[in-house]
Amino acid sequence: MMWSTPMLQATPGDPLAGGNPRQVPGVCWSRCDATAMPNAEMRLWNDELAASLGGLQSNPSIWVGGHLIEGMEPYAHRYGGHQFGNWAHQLGDGRALSLGHVKTPSGLTEVQLKGAGRTPYSRSGDGRAVLRSSLREYLCSEAMYYLGVPTSRALSLCTTGEDVRRDMFYDGRPAMEPGAIVTRTAPSFVRFGSFQMLAADGDVDALHTLMEHVVTTHEPDHHVNDDAGVVAWLTDVAKRSAEMVCGWMRHGFVHGVMNTDNMSIHGLTIDYGPFGWVEAHDPSWTPNTTDLPGRRYCYAAQPDVVGWNLARLLEAMAFTMNDPELLHAVMEVYREAYRSARQQAWIERLGLDEWNEEDELLVRDLQQFMYDSKVDHVPLLRHLGEGVTTSEALHDAGIIYAAEPDHVSIDSWIEQWLERTSGAPNLAVMQRTVPVFTPRNWVLQLAIDDAEQGDWNKAEELAERLMRPFERLDEDEGAWWSGPRPNWALSRPGCSMLSCSS
Ligand code: AMP
Ligand code: MG
Repeated sequence: MMWSTPMLQATPGDPLAGGNPRQVPGVCWSRCDATAMPNAEMRLWNDELAASLGGLQSNPSIWVGGHLIEGMEPYAHRYGGHQFGNWAHQLGDGRALSLGHVKTPSGLTEVQLKGAGRTPYSRSGDGRAVLRSSLREYLCSEAMYYLGVPTSRALSLCTTGEDVRRDMFYDGRPAMEPGAIVTRTAPSFVRFGSFQMLAADGDVDALHTLMEHVVTTHEPDHHVNDDAGVVAWLTDVAKRSAEMVCGWMRHGFVHGVMNTDNMSIHGLTIDYGPFGWVEAHDPSWTPNTTDLPGRRYCYAAQPDVVGWNLARLLEAMAFTMNDPELLHAVMEVYREAYRSARQQAWIERLGLDEWNEEDELLVRDLQQFMYDSKVDHVPLLRHLGEGVTTSEALHDAGIIYAAEPDHVSIDSWIEQWLERTSGAPNLAVMQRTVPVFTPRNWVLQLAIDDAEQGDWNKAEELAERLMRPFERLDEDEGAWWSGPRPNWALSRPGCSMLSCSS
C-alpha cells in the first residue's frame, strides 16, 4: 500500500506543526498529530471500500490516527468560507485530519479522520465528534454512494471510548456523549473555501499553486495555464456541482449547511451534519435548527445556493485570470446543466419517453398535490412506479401525512399522467431510479439509540440495506426501518430537528 501526501509536496504550508489555534495566512495546510485514543474500538468497517483502496487493514489504532503507516503525514486543510451568506474568513479543518492519499486505479484518494482532536484550526472547538453524528455521516454518505449521488465515502467508524461534551440544542444544557471517529475518503477534501481563503489573503501565487495542484493531481486532462484552461476546468466544476445537487433534489435530500466551506471542488456531497430527507413534502423544509430563521438551505433553495456558492468560487478564481469576464459563461453552464439534469430526473421518475414543454405543468401539479396533502414524494413516485395508481391504495400505503387527506385527490393527476404516457409509463425506469430505501433521520436515530447502548446490530443492518436502495427486498416486509415515518419521530430530537452541534 503506497501512501503519499501530494498536497504537502506541492502547495504552501504552515511552517509550524500542531500548536494552538491561530491565523496562518497564505498556506493550504498545517501538519498536526491526532490526539491519542488508546481505547478506540472498530465498530463499522467498509470491506468493499477497503478492498477498492488496495486492501486496507481494519486495525482501529490506524483509523484514529494512533498508528501511522509509512507515507502517512497527518495534516489539517486550511480554508475559509461563506457561512449563511457571510464571509467567515479562516475556518479550516478544526476536527478533521488527513492521513494522506492512497493510489487507486481511478486516481489518488485522500483519507481523512473526522474527530481526531484539535488542530491549528479548531478555534474554540474540541476537535472531537460524537457517535450520533459520526454514525449519521457513515451511513448517509454510503447510502448516497449507492443511490448514485456523488459523495465522499466512509471507510470506518471507531468509538474513542471517551466522552465528549455537547450542548445539542445550544440551550445551555450540555451533556456528555460518546465520542467517535469516522474515516472518510474523497479524491481530495479541497473545498470552494480553500480557494476563497487564498483569494481573501490576496495571495494570487498560492491560489495559482493550489489550482495547479488540484488539476494536475486529480484532473490531468485539464491544463490551467491560460484563461481558456481555467474556464474549461471551472466549467467542469459547475457541471459536477449541478449533477450533485440534482441528485439531492431527486431523492429528497437536504444537506442543511451549504456554506462554501462545505462545497467540494470535485462536486461531491461532503460534511454530513444536520442533513435530512424531506418527508411530508414542503419546499421550504430545512432539517437544521440554525437555518430555521431564514431557511437559506431549505430543500427547494438548494440548486440556487449551489449557484450562489459557485459564484463565490468564481470571484476567487477571477484573480488568476487576465480576463475575468470570461467566467460569466461558467454560471450559464451551471444553470443549463442543472436545468437539463432536472429534466432528465423527471423523465426517469415519471417514466416519460422524453421531455415536452407541457411536462412542466404535470410536475407543478404533482408538487402542488404533494404539498397540499403532505405527501412523502419519493415513496409516492416509487408506488406509482410499482403500478399503484389509485388514491385509495396510495392513502393506504401511509405516505400521505395530511390529517384530512380526502380533500385533495390524486386521481385526476394520475389520469393526466397516464394520458401523457399513453397508459404505459416506463415502470422499469421508474423502479431503477426511484429508491425504495433512503436512510431517514428517524431510522438513523433508532440505530444511534442502540449503538449508544453498545448494540450495533441496527447500524450493521442499515449498512447492508443501503447497498441496494432501488431493490424491493423481502426482508423489508415489517422491518424496523420500513414503512412511513412514525408519529413519535415528529417530536423526537435528531428526527425532526437537528443542530450543527456534532
Ligand atoms: P462543519 O459544520 O462541520 O462543516 O464545521 C464548520 C467549521 O467548524 C469547520 O471549520 C470545522 O472544522 C469547525 N468545527 C466544527 N466542529 C468542531 C469541533 N468540535 N472542534 C473544532 N472545530 C470544529
Ligand atoms: Mg464543514
